[in-house]
Amino acid sequence: MPINSFVNLRQAQKHMKFILYIFSILVLFTSCTTNHEVDLIVHNARIYTVDSAFTIADAVAIRGGVFIEIGNSQQLLKRYQAKDVWDAEGASIYPGFYDSHAHFLSFASSLNMANLYGADSFADVLQRLNAHRKAHPDRSWIVGAGWDQDRWKDSTFQVKDSLDKYFPDIPVYLSRVDYQAASVNSRALNIANIDSAFYVEGGLISTDSIGNLSGVLMDNAMELVRIHIPEVSDEEELRTLTKAEELLFSVGLTSIVDAGVNELDLEFLRNLYTDKKLKIRNYAMIEDNQRTIRKIMRSGFYDDGRLTIRSVKLTADGLLRTRGAALLSAYSDDSTNNGFLLQTTENLEKAIREVADSKFQLSTRAIGDSATRLILDLYGKYIGTNNNRRWRIEHANVVNESDFEKFKRFRVFPSVQPIHATTDMYWATDRIGSDRIRNAYALKRLVDNYGMVAIGSDFPGESYNPLFSFHAAVARVDANGEPSGGYEMKNALTRREALMAMTIWAAHACFQDSQRGSIQRGKDADFVMLSKDMMTVPNEELRSIQVIRTVVGGETVFKR
Ligand SMILES: [Zn+2]
Repeated sequence: MPINSFVNLRQAQKHMKFILYIFSILVLFTSCTTNHEVDLIVHNARIYTVDSAFTIADAVAIRGGVFIEIGNSQQLLKRYQAKDVWDAEGASIYPGFYDSHAHFLSFASSLNMANLYGADSFADVLQRLNAHRKAHPDRSWIVGAGWDQDRWKDSTFQVKDSLDKYFPDIPVYLSRVDYQAASVNSRALNIANIDSAFYVEGGLISTDSIGNLSGVLMDNAMELVRIHIPEVSDEEELRTLTKAEELLFSVGLTSIVDAGVNELDLEFLRNLYTDKKLKIRNYAMIEDNQRTIRKIMRSGFYDDGRLTIRSVKLTADGLLRTRGAALLSAYSDDSTNNGFLLQTTENLEKAIREVADSKFQLSTRAIGDSATRLILDLYGKYIGTNNNRRWRIEHANVVNESDFEKFKRFRVFPSVQPIHATTDMYWATDRIGSDRIRNAYALKRLVDNYGMVAIGSDFPGESYNPLFSFHAAVARVDANGEPSGGYEMKNALTRREALMAMTIWAAHACFQDSQRGSIQRGKDADFVMLSKDMMTVPNEELRSIQVIRTVVGGETVFKR
């Protein structure tokens, strides 16, 4: 290099340094003037930050959708100029609630149907169907969801005959509360061309003792009729999703886990989120055939801040209620039946191996102790110990004594539904007996082993109100306060654990704990303001607490 070029280079470097110096002073100066402007200050509140020390603060400052500072009202009001200031008047504030296992799309479509949830007799079902038909006289089908024969005193009569009597001229399709069975009338069976000779792999078309169709379709048989129900338009579906979202915001949910969405629905959701039509944070798990799952995994994680796709959902076994959950030994009320897996062990293992080879999280529904053991062992085989894969088991309702420690050993996250304990308690002991029941719905045991659980409701099968789940987790009683003193209280969570399971632990189960789940500097400003303090009110008042405000990313999405 010639000398003069070298000198020129040195001079240029000097100039550059000077320019950078001036530039950094300018940056410092502008940031000093704007650093004290924030979008919002909330003060005079009792703020459960749910940080690692479980700190309680009384004010927060928010800018650009994230928490800028958490602390004392006087200091924050003095330090910042806010475009908006809310005096919480002493109300309590929590990180936005998660529902760690839910079905958003089914919930939305249930809003458009005859709502049969909680119907306590078949007469009640008929009344609701009639009201629904009157409200929607233009519809060519009656579609409903949520019936539950365990709630009816008399469940011996033929549902189809009654439906035929009241609705001879219109097809009827009614999903049971768990969506694993449907009741239909003759008109619907005729449209689908189903007769008693029909056979469906993985499904059942039930008949009475003399071989007549009884109008109940189970598992894969449901699809035979369902495909004939007219599709709703995209606009109609968006309208119901928006309505569903409003309801979820009204109970303080800011994040949900959509536990099993097929490729078409994922695409639909992705478009809606891209167009900013939905705001609730949705961690949608892929559930489809293996080829589709493989295809989606190849395209990598998807995360636009509201919709996240990085988890695969598998289903190992059926439900305890219908004796479909896979148990290590026979049902206590059916000595010839151990339940069953919904797919072969080979297929489950193949799927588990494929997800292990990717970076995706795996979440598997396992309800019985046999299914739970199988999945824990297969997880252990492919991801080993000391991993940070955060693979989940959904439900883990019945766990064998010797398997609890595997949650810890293989780092498997238990995703549990406290409200199932208080719904199932009326028949669960019949199914599995008094020994196994001690290790069922064992929230506390799971926390003691793994260190965390994530709480979900499994809506629409149960109420979407997270305070109902919180109540079930800490008091272990149902809506009527039964049984007095609580059910299997040694498996209750403390309020602090239950709150963490709805916030920071739930965020951890979705790899979002550095972004959400607590009220801390730099995290998304998702929070909920309640009418009463859920950490201190008596148990009986928990379900009637009202949400005053729900905020997602600094934006109020619900206000009472
Ligand atoms: Zn579910």
